[in-house]
Amino acid sequence: MPASITRNLVTGGAGFVGSHLIDRLMQAGEEVICLDNFFTGRKQNVAQWHNHPNFELIRHDVTDPIRLEVDRIWHLACPASPVHYQFNPIKTAKTSFLGTYNMLGLARRVGARLLLASTSEVYGDPLVHPQPESYRGNVNTHGIRACYDEGKRVAETLCFDYQRMHGTEIRIARIFNTYGPRMLPDDGRVVSNFIVQALRGEPLTLYGDGLQTRSFCYVDDLVEGLIRLMNGEHTGPINLGNPGEFTIRQLAERVRDRINPSLELICEPLPEDDPLQRQPVIDLARQQLGWEPGISLDQGLEPTIADFRQRLIDP
Ligand code: NAD
Ligand code: UDP
Repeated sequence: MPASITRNLVTGGAGFVGSHLIDRLMQAGEEVICLDNFFTGRKQNVAQWHNHPNFELIRHDVTDPIRLEVDRIWHLACPASPVHYQFNPIKTAKTSFLGTYNMLGLARRVGARLLLASTSEVYGDPLVHPQPESYRGNVNTHGIRACYDEGKRVAETLCFDYQRMHGTEIRIARIFNTYGPRMLPDDGRVVSNFIVQALRGEPLTLYGDGLQTRSFCYVDDLVEGLIRLMNGEHTGPINLGNPGEFTIRQLAERVRDRINPSLELICEPLPEDDPLQRQPVIDLARQQLGWEPGISLDQGLEPTIADFRQRLIDP
């Protein structure tokens, strides 16, 4: 009898991170069901796998239950950019809560292992810097980011309660800001905004004074971390991010200098509850997964800019 092939369900698989994950799983010869409602995902992101016998694409909303036979659930479905998750905040909270509830129900029924794509946003506007997994966070429960931050917090809670009550196998990744090819040009996140602005010859928009910090992880590094977490024995929550910390102004300068050094940086109002600083402690990922990012911001910006350049010419 041939060795059985792992059957993966990737929710949010047509999105930015999900589609890169699918590439890795497909390249490894596994079966993949990509499930997406196409809110921020695009069929083109997985078009390379259409007609492949190991690949299926399902249009479905995770807030509705679904019955499928799978071994592993990579639960990524949820808009990640503030512009998108604030578009319909009630829907965002439902996606995190009901979506995770439905996927845990599926995992329990078929005995699948579920990995939740949680976020550094569970730390809110952190009072501890850098952030280890033991930090419990500083989230405003009623601000404009709460639909996402609190949604992910309750999603983590549901995972642990399914583990305690039903023995469901869970893995929790707390993902820090990730960037790379296939981000949407109108995504609203900072890396895509700056690259698109610079390629269009427009000023780069710093929100506030641009001195707030973020730590940017290239998508290939993140996907490697997710795969190690799913395959390993450590449940998490575990931080996956690049510890290299930059002010938003430094990021703008790097992007501008690579594309068009004559462009202006302009300041615009800082959105409500925008975290002042963010940097992962990744000791746990190093110890438990033998993982750390290998791609620097400068190295990662190159293919990301090239991808946007290509798509702005040929959308
Ligand atoms: P993305 O917006 O590109 O992808 C999200 C995908 O989920 C899209 O394809 C979207 O259409 C789909 N989706 C949204 N709501 C859905 C629903 N109700 N039912 C079915 N599909 C739905 O975002 P991303 O950057 O690829 O993020 C993927 C996951 O990783 C998200 O859960 C996000 O919270 C998490 N994450 C990402 C980052 C990051 O920097 N990229 C950081 C922290 C956490
Ligand atoms: N930001 C900015 N200009 C932009 C888009 C974002 O200065 O055009 C800032 C934003 O205010 C935040 C940081 O960049 O401080 C990261 O924003 P993003 O939306 O990418 O991620 P998040 O805030 O969720 O970490």
